[in-house]
Amino acid sequence: MTKYVLVSDNTLIHNFRNFPLLDFLPSAPASHVPGPVYKFLRGVPAPALPDGQAKFAPYGMRKLEISMLNQGIKSEDIAVAHPDHLQNFIKDDTEIVAVHTMDPMGLGPTTMSYYALFGGNEMRPWVRQEWDDLLAKINALRVGKKAKLMIGGPGVWEYTILNEEIERHKVDYLFQGEADDIGGHLFQQLTDGQLDPNMFNNGFITYDETFHRMQHKDPRFISRGSGIGAYPKLEDIPVITKPTTKGLTEVMRGCGIGCDFCEVTLRPLRYYPIDMIVKELKVNLDAGYNYAWMHSDEIFAYKHLQNYVPNQEALIELFSTVMAQPGVVRTNPTHGRISIPAAYPELIKKLSEIGRASSSNWIGVQVGLETGSDRLAKLHMPAKTLPLKIGVDGSYQEIVWKGVYNFNKYFWRPAFTVQVGQSSETDEDNWETVALINRMSNSVVEGRPFEFTVTPLYNMPLGRIKAKQVKSELTPSMLAVYYASYRHLAKMASRNANKDSKGNPFVKVGTSKIISVGGGLMFKAVEKIAKKQGLDVEKAKNWGMPKDKELESWAMVAKAM
Ligand code: SF4
Repeated sequence: MTKYVLVSDNTLIHNFRNFPLLDFLPSAPASHVPGPVYKFLRGVPAPALPDGQAKFAPYGMRKLEISMLNQGIKSEDIAVAHPDHLQNFIKDDTEIVAVHTMDPMGLGPTTMSYYALFGGNEMRPWVRQEWDDLLAKINALRVGKKAKLMIGGPGVWEYTILNEEIERHKVDYLFQGEADDIGGHLFQQLTDGQLDPNMFNNGFITYDETFHRMQHKDPRFISRGSGIGAYPKLEDIPVITKPTTKGLTEVMRGCGIGCDFCEVTLRPLRYYPIDMIVKELKVNLDAGYNYAWMHSDEIFAYKHLQNYVPNQEALIELFSTVMAQPGVVRTNPTHGRISIPAAYPELIKKLSEIGRASSSNWIGVQVGLETGSDRLAKLHMPAKTLPLKIGVDGSYQEIVWKGVYNFNKYFWRPAFTVQVGQSSETDEDNWETVALINRMSNSVVEGRPFEFTVTPLYNMPLGRIKAKQVKSELTPSMLAVYYASYRHLAKMASRNANKDSKGNPFVKVGTSKIISVGGGLMFKAVEKIAKKQGLDVEKAKNWGMPKDKELESWAMVAKAM
């Protein structure tokens, strides 16, 4: 008997050939990535255990599982099911099937950037195809049974926008928020048919354009009640006891930098103590991982000092402790900001030594650059360069360039995102972003070309998503940002596809070929759309290139550091 079945969105359990950036593949439209290519690049799913449970599960689902156990639900009543073996668990006595998702209907920023580019209202990215397939399977297994369907995880907000999908997907409950301290109570109370109004609220939290938090009543949604606080306290966050997909473990929550487009900044900072991180890491190492993927939204804010000066001692202790665990051969953080390598090259050098970074062991990190424009950076994210200040310590572009220089010098490879469609954005701002990408794409560090990827994201206003008006409205200057980004990505793909591909020789050759050819084809597709929309592609190719020796002067600054 399994009262509670937890299962993950299929896109979160495949290995995507362990190729950098390929985890974004489900965001691509099914109309442009043929099924066989998608299925090959998606790689293999995390394995199933003999009873049909998932050997590895997304980190958030592991947190929910331990929260349920800690709050009195018996382990035999919970199954973290592998999606291929759901029939082993969804039975007549199942009370709730809970599904964890990040981007169920393809409204995430990467997916939106493809809609904006390719146009069309059909909204059929692979992520949505996979979601529909999974829910159809679950709903078929629920027919004639009492099991209710609950959706949770960071992607729940999408049902607040496309709420007619709630009925279509036959969803009974949607839970929004962090549930570490209440997960068990939630499942128990739903089963008993009575939610404690102090602990739970019927409705969801939403935000206005200036990120003011608003409660919206809706009986189909459940969020944290006013009696327990908006977020769990650090001491109420449990330690996972079973391994996670891709060996991910969390080191902190929250950020606080205050970028005006980011919800994470509203969450309180909670730093996991080292012994808690080690306990979770050991769970993954015992399951066979030999690397540690440290999740935070801003690693350089870990126990930061005043004015977001990095706490070098704490970061060195964190990296050293992680790398000292028996079996760990490499580590990387998920996110970090670019001003820290710009201002603290010696810290990056030290962390690289600890992490044994080299030309064959790059430390990957996602970095939100968002723009190349001083004006927009100051307007939307004035604290993102702290402790450096734009204008005082150089232009935003100079800070970014120095950051990439130092990252690359010590074998860190940033995966950038840039935005188009930000509020009050002008064509000039977008061309500044183009200039930054072109300059970086043509820069070198110690004789090596700059190593980075850059993914353009489109800020789709929610009103247009609600109205299902997601047709392309990219202006030529926005398309110039896409053009410069995909031109650089094609260059990176042809340069690195072979050395970054993993697996047996057949898989390695297949992955490498598809990535290098696919990168070129994607660039050609962007070029065709951009030309059709009136972009002068010669201008986009050359914009910002250093006829004026600007790059050389930046290089001299970097060398002098
Ligand atoms: S630095 Fe990153 S996580 Fe922090 S507020 Fe800005 S965008 Fe959000």
